[in-house]
Amino acid sequence: MKNIILFGPPGSGKGTQAAKLVEKYGLKHISTGDIFREELKNNTDLGQKAREYMDQGLLVPDEVVIAMLGSKMDYFLKETPKGFIFDGFPRTLAQAEALDRLMKGKDLRIDKVLSLVVSEEELTKRILLRGKTSGRADDADRETVKKRVEEYNNKTAVVAGFYRKKNILNEIKGEGSIDDIFANLCTAFEA
Ligand code: AMP
Repeated sequence: MKNIILFGPPGSGKGTQAAKLVEKYGLKHISTGDIFREELKNNTDLGQKAREYMDQGLLVPDEVVIAMLGSKMDYFLKETPKGFIFDGFPRTLAQAEALDRLMKGKDLRIDKVLSLVVSEEELTKRILLRGKTSGRADDADRETVKKRVEEYNNKTAVVAGFYRKKNILNEIKGEGSIDDIFANLCTAFEA
């Protein structure tokens, strides 16, 4: 199995690129944001709990995210996948450490972290633009977007350092055409 993390701030293109990587390499996609939105749509307890945070642009508490992730992985592992692509997870050091433990417990490991680098100005522009069509309340409101970028800077950016120390961090320019960025991701994935 080849397991990767697609890392980067909100609006860096993780969702778009993850879909393309999934299609090309047959990986199982685990997007914690997508899972929360699905739970919300189905009006589950987990969805309701996540909503309190998502609507404010805040991170959902680690213990909620980690518990959900473990059960999702077990579900996919029954299908003996070619690998996992984690998208929007881990977003804190505690989540990164928990993922390490989870993977070790299943005799798996993270092979690579592909990190999309995009300027803050470009991020805000992209998210607000997406907000016009995505139907996501957290994309449409300037204050919520600002909060999400702040949460990234305060709690998530350090996760890159965690993987840099393990020598598995690959930084990829996340600005330019979707196809060019994808080509660079594929080169890093296959290297
Ligand atoms: P995303 O679609 O990845 O931008 O996630 C949307 C929202 O879901 C985030 O702003 C958080 O409120 C929540 N969320 C998604 N993934 C995580 C995570 N790994 N840790 C905490 N909160 C998360």
